[in-house]
Amino acid sequence: MPFVFDFDHAHRKPPMEMKDLLGGKGANLAEMTSVLKLPVPPGFTIAATACRSYMEGGWPEALTGEVAKARARLEKKMGKRIGDPSDPLLVSVRSGAKFSMPGMMDTVLNLGLNDQSVEGLAKQTDDERFAYDSYRRFVAMYGRIVLGVPGDEFDLLLEAAKELAGTTSDAGVPIGLLRYLVDAYQQIVERHTGRPFPQDPDEQLRGAIEAVFASWNGPRAIAYRVRERIAHDLGTAVNVQAMVFGNRDDASGTGVGFTRDPATGATGEYGDFLVNAQGEDVVAGIRNTETLSALKDEFPEIHRELLAIFSRLESHYRDMCDTEFTIEQGKLWMLQTRVGKRTGRAALKMAVDMVGEKAINLTREEALGRITGEHLEQVLHPQFSGADHPVLARGLGASPGAAVGRVYLTADDAQAAAERGEHVVLVRSETSPEDVHGMLAAEGILTARGGLVSHAAVVARGWGKPAVVGAEALRISAASFSVGDVVVNEGDWISVDGTNGTVVLGQVAVTVGETPPEFEIILGWADAVRTGRLGVRANADTGSDAANARRHGAEGIGLCRTEHMFLAEDRLPIVRRMILADTPDEEVSALEELRVAQRSDFEAILEAMDGLPVTIRLLDPPLHEFLPDTQDLAIKEATVGLDEEESRLYEAAKAWHEYNPMLGTRGVRLGVIKPGLYAMQVRALMEAALSRVAAGGHPIVEIMIPLTVSREEMALARSWVEAAIAEAEAAGGAASRRGRTGKDSTGALEVLIGTMIETPRAALLAAEIAEEADFFSFGTNDLTQMTFGFSRDDVEGRMMSAYLEQGLLPRNPFEVVDPDGVGELVRLGVRRGRATRPSLKIGVCGEHGGDPESIRTFAEAGLDYVSCSPFRVPIARLAAAQCVLAGLVPPKPAKSTPKSKAGSAPKSKAAPTAKSKASSKAKSPAKS
Ligand code: ADP
Ligand code: MG
Ligand code: MG
Repeated sequence: MPFVFDFDHAHRKPPMEMKDLLGGKGANLAEMTSVLKLPVPPGFTIAATACRSYMEGGWPEALTGEVAKARARLEKKMGKRIGDPSDPLLVSVRSGAKFSMPGMMDTVLNLGLNDQSVEGLAKQTDDERFAYDSYRRFVAMYGRIVLGVPGDEFDLLLEAAKELAGTTSDAGVPIGLLRYLVDAYQQIVERHTGRPFPQDPDEQLRGAIEAVFASWNGPRAIAYRVRERIAHDLGTAVNVQAMVFGNRDDASGTGVGFTRDPATGATGEYGDFLVNAQGEDVVAGIRNTETLSALKDEFPEIHRELLAIFSRLESHYRDMCDTEFTIEQGKLWMLQTRVGKRTGRAALKMAVDMVGEKAINLTREEALGRITGEHLEQVLHPQFSGADHPVLARGLGASPGAAVGRVYLTADDAQAAAERGEHVVLVRSETSPEDVHGMLAAEGILTARGGLVSHAAVVARGWGKPAVVGAEALRISAASFSVGDVVVNEGDWISVDGTNGTVVLGQVAVTVGETPPEFEIILGWADAVRTGRLGVRANADTGSDAANARRHGAEGIGLCRTEHMFLAEDRLPIVRRMILADTPDEEVSALEELRVAQRSDFEAILEAMDGLPVTIRLLDPPLHEFLPDTQDLAIKEATVGLDEEESRLYEAAKAWHEYNPMLGTRGVRLGVIKPGLYAMQVRALMEAALSRVAAGGHPIVEIMIPLTVSREEMALARSWVEAAIAEAEAAGGAASRRGRTGKDSTGALEVLIGTMIETPRAALLAAEIAEEADFFSFGTNDLTQMTFGFSRDDVEGRMMSAYLEQGLLPRNPFEVVDPDGVGELVRLGVRRGRATRPSLKIGVCGEHGGDPESIRTFAEAGLDYVSCSPFRVPIARLAAAQCVLAGLVPPKPAKSTPKSKAGSAPKSKAAPTAKSKASSKAKSPAKS
């Protein structure tokens, strides 16, 4: 397989299918050249395989010859030679990996200029100013990117030259000063490298190619890949392309264009351009750009040609594309295209619109494939509440959503503040790839310069971070910025609205944004695909959370953590009384009080989820969490002394102290020590359920035992639960009677008893645990901790980033479930559990249930549902549909589908054990 391919190389497959090899930029350049026949400056692509070889063993021998040949072919096509002193061919050397990493890697323009060929270029073009402007750009870019010279040394000199010339535009710097700049730049390079600026074009080309290879492993590229979950071993392709010059004269220019608005999805072209400028000027936000309608006024022909190209690109790629173009002396050249990044709002609108458009004719399934979880997240973003906030400054709304935070003026300060737990708005004159760590840490971004396709805007949109760019009234200095005579210091609060571009002093209240109409349309399509195949529930601990989850489309609750009810301020003293109880009577009376309190909590939840299953997990955390901190009490004892109550609490806290609470008295183990606790919870729950039945409701209750590791544990826990159910039914005679009446219309009660699977042992012994369990729910957070032996709190802060950067882990396994280890335990647990009980209902609860990539793993394992936080429910609905469309969801055995009361019948047949008597009894209070 060769390393080098010309843009017009005759590939057997369409170049777009060779992105692995050619990179995104190279594949698209080849596609535009050889398939679409668009005007693209000729060039060739060095495949990513060369970069991979380079990373392994240095510059590959064979590459030298291949590049020399490709270069000769290019020179022949252009009728010019690189480095020819009388008429030089200039090239750009452009990085381009498989996945676009905007601005993360480097590109060198105008390569091939030296002290001789610059004169040749000046003569050929009869434009000395242009030749030297190109040369000073080249020396600065090559110096910075290839030779590692700090870029601001060049920038400072350029600023000084502009000031001297009394101009604000690069194009206004006169030839004399340009010659001086080229000379001064070369001296800067020599001072930093100890060698003169390389004059030999061969050396320049080789150096630039190597620099692009090396930039793959530059710190900002690595940070970007970690964030975007791109593999570190892909490598980048390198494109060498004949230069075209937008900085030639006033009949030239350069721009960035989108085939539709990437922020809103509105149809019609959208973009920025600059007259008499070279590519990077637009993106850098150095000069304020004009819109494409200004292009229409100044270059009507070109505008028309560009629109025709846009519509060809859209129907070819069947999607919105972004482009880079350059006009050289009245001729249009396309320099780049790709399917464009977009905001969530735009993604939704475009996907729905394109289903109805003839030229594109998207299917609903394809439309679903175009939306990501991040897109949905973005439209769920907060907005300013209310309308008339005093506006401090206005800029361009570059990335929607509202952000409120303290002002920091450098990326490092922003990052440090965020690490201290502060909310941060990063304020910069403009951003560059050097700022990405600060942008990542910030909640919002504000810049004084740059347009809607500036670095800040592009990066913020990609990450769904609110951003306002080009707020020109800002005057930024070292530790503050000012607008008119208002000074905003570092650490002061501001609020930015990236939807309409406003900046407000202080903290504005924010609300959750209204989702656009396309949001419901897309999710409706998603539900149609996945219903009956992969369910989505929510984790909710209160009635209002449950109601919210239902509004977001949850089909039940997969995890209700009852400990949250215990930690409420009015409950804590009661819990403590129970722990401190000296006599059984004291314990019983404290439990009684808790029962009454919990009952109303449960009722609210069951009401909000009426007719849908609600999984209630019995108390899980170690008891010491309910006791005061021993250190605080020790200090108090040693200083002011403790009162009687405090000394008792201190004794209890010491008695319950655990060396490793994560692996201590948790879950069902707690129930073993304090069986009255679980009985109390079940009674409260059953009373709540029966009262819902009495009110004509249809509660579906699933009682879940946490942290079980054996059949014996599960059988014991099950016996308490069943006893408590029976007791509650007997005690609640009145409610029960009324319940029976209710049941004739709508009221009915169903109860299942199941367990969490959150230790490796539970997964391994799923077959026997399933004998006692009606359902499983994988608790993948604990399962991940115990499978890896990672204590999450300790490991995430301290070593996770090192593991990710060094490629020791492909993902943080607490964010994306580990498909091989933890995933294998899930698959095994499902297989073994269902071998015992084919109808076993199985889900997953915990954060992974809302992560699209993890959902794939769960779908493939054959789970019935995923459960996640209410705000992630829409994301899970979409991801679940995508799994079904991708054919990942195994077909459901016919018997496990019924969800109604009848569903219990096959279950008892499937496992005719002692428990089935009990569970069928539990399911039908009317019978007992
Ligand atoms: P990035 O991926 O950061 O956008 P590019 O390789 O696209 O980097 O190049 C940076 C800028 O230089 C872009 O504006 C691009 O249009 C411009 N450019 C690249 N190659 C050429 C060329 N051969 N002629 C003119 N401009 C070019
Ligand atoms: Mg580009
Ligand atoms: Mg757990």
